[in-house]
Amino acid sequence: MSSLLIKNGMIVTLDDGGRVLEDHGVLIENGLIAKVAPLGTFRDLHVTELDAHRRMVMPGLINAHMHFYSTFARGLYKTRPAHNFQEILENLWWKLDKALSLEAVYVSALVALIGGIRHGTTTFIDHHASPNALRGSLACISDAVAVARLRACLAYEVSDRDGAEIAREGIAENEEFIKECQRRALTGDSFVRALFGLHASFTLSDRTLSSAAEKAAALGSGFHVHVAEAESDEQHCRSFYGSSIVERFQRLGILGPNSIFAHCVHVNEQEQELIAASGTKVVHNPQSNMNNAVGVADIVAMAGKGICVGLGTDAMTCNMLEEVRVATWLQKLHSKDPAAGFSEALTALLVNNARIADRYWCHKKLGRIEEGAAADLIVIDYDPPTPLDSRSLLGHICFGAAESAVDTTIVNGRILMKNKKLQLDIDEERLLARARELAKALWEAF
Ligand SMILES: [Zn+2]
Repeated sequence: MSSLLIKNGMIVTLDDGGRVLEDHGVLIENGLIAKVAPLGTFRDLHVTELDAHRRMVMPGLINAHMHFYSTFARGLYKTRPAHNFQEILENLWWKLDKALSLEAVYVSALVALIGGIRHGTTTFIDHHASPNALRGSLACISDAVAVARLRACLAYEVSDRDGAEIAREGIAENEEFIKECQRRALTGDSFVRALFGLHASFTLSDRTLSSAAEKAAALGSGFHVHVAEAESDEQHCRSFYGSSIVERFQRLGILGPNSIFAHCVHVNEQEQELIAASGTKVVHNPQSNMNNAVGVADIVAMAGKGICVGLGTDAMTCNMLEEVRVATWLQKLHSKDPAAGFSEALTALLVNNARIADRYWCHKKLGRIEEGAAADLIVIDYDPPTPLDSRSLLGHICFGAAESAVDTTIVNGRILMKNKKLQLDIDEERLLARARELAKALWEAF
């Protein structure tokens, strides 16, 4: 693999020191960052160069909770009005997922992945459902990930909502795909990873959860599951199982340092303590929570308890910089304290998402620019009008860089977008035309 030297940019390392480097270069070799050093160091080096003059260079962003298939919900005007979370699921998502074919799964994923490249998201942790095109669906998404050349950690959402047979198939799909990923990891594949996917407490029986827990434990896998997204989920658990969701999941072996609990909007203090003690990761999705009117997750309290809280979009966008701005404003507004939540929201995106992804990529050092880290970087059109250093960095990202265009996206040392143009062998126009055809047919289900 060829080498690449990025020079002249303002380098935001997001390393342990949170350094911001001027007049430095980043040398990439064999998919890794080989050297970060003053420009003079590279004077006699003859490699391909990328000039990031008047731009900011930073690690590729990570989306810790996504649903690629939601691509086909965009503009869907035919759904019956929904006035609570259950109706949102029944009127929109559970109709959409049933209508997906394997081709639709592939196309929707590829469209979303291209959105990631355009917005500087280089790693996705996805959660998938297609009950009528279930077996092989994760392999289809994995094919799209290979074409887009990004990194993704995939899971199939097991649920009893479509009957016992489909729940069993969901378990088998996860099991097979996790094994496949483990095989691929041994051969050096660093692009696709897997988690055991579960929908949410209120659509999962104890029997299905126990079966999933048994299989996941045998495979050494964590879970990716929605937890207490709406109050109704928590109420359902208390009335049917006599405990909170987190207590129920603890009893059934779902917690642990490799598990992701998406949302956690309605977890109480005791549940937060169980999450913290187990090392389970929480992923906050503020735009989705606002869109579904389910409430606000108390990420300040959770971070205060030592929980690693990351940031996802729950498919509202592929743009993590947009999501982090909303996360910041929402915490301030909700707590009526303009000082609240800024640090927790930015830390979720810039530090904790990398900690979460690193668990699945076996400490490949995603989300930082330092020697030996994965060469996943983005270049943003941001030339700061005020001093940019480690002290002012978070403010610059939230109030400045987040509004600027991503110019270049690099994953594993390969340039996927340059000068805002995709550098991939994909006929995007044809892909989008096919997506519209598939969406039109899919919308007939509504
Ligand atoms: Zn979700």
